[in-house]
Amino acid sequence: MASSLPPRSSASSYLKKENAGPARRPMGFKVAPRRNVLSAISNGEANGGTPSASVDGGGGGGGAAEAPPVVEFSGREDVDRLLAEKMKGKSKNDFKGRCDQMSEYIKKLRACIRWYMDLEDGYLAEQEKLRGSIDAENARHTELEAQLSNAIEELKAANMDLTRRCRSLEESFNKEVSEKMIAVESYEKEKQGREAAESTRDILAVDLERVTHDAKRFSEQLKMVQDTNKRLQEYNTSLQQYNSNLQADASKSGETISKLQKEKSVMMETMTTLRECNSSMSNQLESSRVSQQEAIRVKEELRKEVECLRVELKQVRDDRDHSVSQLNSLNLELSNCKEHIGKSSKEHESLSTKVSELEETCNRQQEQIQTFQKHLAVATEKLKLADVTAIEAMTGYEEQKQKIKYLEERLSQAESQIVEGDEVRKKLHNTILELKGNIRVFCRVRPLLGHDGDSNGPEGASISFPTSVESAGRGIDLINQGQKLSFSYDKVFAHDASQEEVFVEISQLVQSALDGYKVCIFAYGQTGSGKTYTMMGKSGVHHKGMIPRSLEQIFMTSRSLESQGWKYSMQASMLEIYNETIRDLLAPVRSNCFEMNTSKQYTIKHDPHGNTTVSELTIIDVFGIGDVTSLLEKAAQIRSVGKTQMNEQSSRSHFVFTLKISGSNENTGQNVQGVLNLIDLAGSERLGKSGSTGDRLKETQSINKSLSALSDVIFAIAKGDDHIPFRNSKLTYLLQPCLGGDSKTLMFVNISPEASSVGETICSLRFASRVNACEIGIPRRQTQARPFDSRLSYGTQPRAYGNIVLAICYYATKKLAVGTATNLVNSIRGH
Ligand code: ADP
Ligand code: MN
Repeated sequence: MASSLPPRSSASSYLKKENAGPARRPMGFKVAPRRNVLSAISNGEANGGTPSASVDGGGGGGGAAEAPPVVEFSGREDVDRLLAEKMKGKSKNDFKGRCDQMSEYIKKLRACIRWYMDLEDGYLAEQEKLRGSIDAENARHTELEAQLSNAIEELKAANMDLTRRCRSLEESFNKEVSEKMIAVESYEKEKQGREAAESTRDILAVDLERVTHDAKRFSEQLKMVQDTNKRLQEYNTSLQQYNSNLQADASKSGETISKLQKEKSVMMETMTTLRECNSSMSNQLESSRVSQQEAIRVKEELRKEVECLRVELKQVRDDRDHSVSQLNSLNLELSNCKEHIGKSSKEHESLSTKVSELEETCNRQQEQIQTFQKHLAVATEKLKLADVTAIEAMTGYEEQKQKIKYLEERLSQAESQIVEGDEVRKKLHNTILELKGNIRVFCRVRPLLGHDGDSNGPEGASISFPTSVESAGRGIDLINQGQKLSFSYDKVFAHDASQEEVFVEISQLVQSALDGYKVCIFAYGQTGSGKTYTMMGKSGVHHKGMIPRSLEQIFMTSRSLESQGWKYSMQASMLEIYNETIRDLLAPVRSNCFEMNTSKQYTIKHDPHGNTTVSELTIIDVFGIGDVTSLLEKAAQIRSVGKTQMNEQSSRSHFVFTLKISGSNENTGQNVQGVLNLIDLAGSERLGKSGSTGDRLKETQSINKSLSALSDVIFAIAKGDDHIPFRNSKLTYLLQPCLGGDSKTLMFVNISPEASSVGETICSLRFASRVNACEIGIPRRQTQARPFDSRLSYGTQPRAYGNIVLAICYYATKKLAVGTATNLVNSIRGH
């Protein structure tokens, strides 16, 4: 019994503890190992619904008393059930049964206690863990608190700062508000003031109107007054002049008066002396008068005597005259007689000699007559013979006459054939040019100059000329950075080509201008590449450029065409286009600055016949090469010249020489109107290289603009665009009729051989290739009477006959075998 008590007490103490448990460890049950509890319950159920049943079964087995109890606890309910378990079915005296039951129960209690102890251990461990985490939490908390307090401090400070700022902002706001108020007030005031001012302005405007009206009236009056004033002044000046004249007269009169007074005093003196003289004289006179009377009387007597004597004298004179005349006539007769006698004696002598001579001659003549008679006989015979030959000659003469007539007819036929042949030549010439393309491009490479300072050797090793048969004289190769670029054009002139050789190639084109075509020859290229050298040339016969050579040819040919009845008249004009402004290079007033001329408006106009006029431009009639050469020299000096890094004497403008040619043929009634334009373009270099700024930059930009306008026009024409942008630059607009369909264009592309220019050179060559690829329609001559199709009838298939046409043209131009050429052409026509 005693042994059964302790478990009870221990159970009660356990209950006490267990009662206090939940308060002390509220989390204990939650942490309990669930798996054990579930297994305990499942075991209990499997053993008969309650744990005691299994205990009972175990007890029934007897041998299993010492086996460890399998009771396990999952929670309070299990414990409560255990505590509520009662002794069942055993009588009070069945101690053994009760004891077994008790021991069983004790075992269960022990198990229960053990479970509790395990639980407690778990709780303790957990508690430890929790404590540790609490400590950590506390530490973190304190840390956070510290941070928080810091943050609070900071916030406080920030708050303070903000409040301070807020306060200052409020102050400034208040200030602003007050200022605004003031401003509003002043605005109001101003507004009022403005309104007042406006009203006054209106009033003033009315006043002003009135006043201006008055002023106008006054000014009119003033003008009138000024007019009158002026007139008065004029009147005044005339009066003053009159006055001064009068004063001058007065002073002169005063002088004369004083002179006269002096004279008067002198006169007075002389008068007194004269008076004295007079009195003495009158005395003398008296006495004289007496003697005079006597003298008169004597004189009267003497006169009578003289009368008598005169009569006598006259008689005597008459007698003398008569006798003198008689004497003279006698003398004359005498001398005549003397002469007569002299002459007669001489005549007598000469006659006697003559008679003897005549006798001699008579004898001789008789002899001669005899010989003559003999001659005569011979001559008459001869005459008979001559008559016969004369008749023969007459018939010969008639024959000759007929021959001459025939030959004359032949001649006129031949002449007309020549004219016809010339026409054919022109047509063929034109066809050749057509075959060559109407925009033709020649490339010219200038030689290296002394100052070029290039390491490429004298010929500029980077440029070479292919020698293969198909590209000889037409190709050019350029080696740039080891890369070879090949180009080909209608003609390529190497550095050693002379001006003469170059001109030979363009002379036919120049000839076209005389035939009535519009011809344009450009020189394109960078500054210093030889444009001006090519077009104008230098002094010296061999260096003459294309312009003087063309003019020489034109004047020469026009003179030689005179024999065919052609009469030509030519007009020259020269201008330059600088920064898109036209300058007249032949304007008569030439004060070395252009300001005087820029006031003129040079406007370009085209009439429907394709003639271009530039208003106010000087046009000069030229009759020979001499006229043109002096004009060219004058213009070349005037051309504006600028400085860039590339060439000191570079021309920065486009130079345009225009020769208008009108010709008429009396024989055929034909009229032609040709134009020859020779253009030295400004340098084509791009902006970067010339290092330009300011005015130079503007120059370069306008040059680039007009050159690209030129290429745009050429390409648009070649593409057959509806709109050709002629108006984009002065240059293209000026040349519009000469760039259009019915003209012939040649472009020289000039190139420098220096290695430093290679970039520009490539640009120029590329541009030229693009131009060379262009075809600009069919050129047409400008003729008036007898218009004809400038193409021959076989023009539709020109390439098939190209070589034949060329051969014919060669003969035709050489004026050999014109008839043959014409026949050939006719046979081709029939072909
Ligand atoms: P651009 O007019 O293109 O600026 P220039 O005609 O003034 O160039 O030429 C520059 C220089 O080169 C000049 O001194 C000129 O005499 C010289 N020159 C150009 N081409 C030739 C050439 N084919 N033969 C000899 N000298 C030349
Ligand atoms: Mn030049």
